[in-house]
Amino acid sequence: MLCLHAGVPMLSVQPKGKQKGCAGCNRKIKDRYLLKALDKYWHEDCLKCACCDCRLGEVGSTLYTKANLILCRRDYLRLFGTTGNCAACSKLIPAFEMVMRARDNVYHLDCFACQLCNQRFCVGDKFFLKNNMILCQMDYEEGQLNGSFESQVQ
Ligand SMILES: [Zn+2]
Ligand SMILES: [Zn+2]
Ligand SMILES: [Zn+2]
Ligand SMILES: [Zn+2]
Repeated sequence: MLCLHAGVPMLSVQPKGKQKGCAGCNRKIKDRYLLKALDKYWHEDCLKCACCDCRLGEVGSTLYTKANLILCRRDYLRLFGTTGNCAACSKLIPAFEMVMRARDNVYHLDCFACQLCNQRFCVGDKFFLKNNMILCQMDYEEGQLNGSFESQVQ
């Protein structure tokens, strides 16, 4: 399971007192703001995700570390996290696997089908969620005629 404590807070602070050395490039930080994380100081430019190179100070206030890597949340989850449990088959979905999402639910690509007639969906197809069941438009509309369905997702 994903350990939420892997996140490390980053603080954007104004340097005071003696100039700090950057833990990334080892040069002095002369900027107006610097980042404080992992008990070290960093240039805003030097605290980057090891995977996608994004500037971590810009994407959030938390960074993630694992095995000496500094990562953004997205890459951390992709590499080490899990997406959750498939709402259809209840099995765990590894973070690197493609998933379908509907409301708060995630599904294996293979599991994302109408749960009444097993029809698979293509991009652009309408699907509906009813009592946490995925339905194709036909089955949904049939249910509506019976007056048992309320809300439409997409
Ligand atoms: Zn630096
Ligand atoms: Zn990243
Ligand atoms: Zn599944
Ligand atoms: Zn159907």
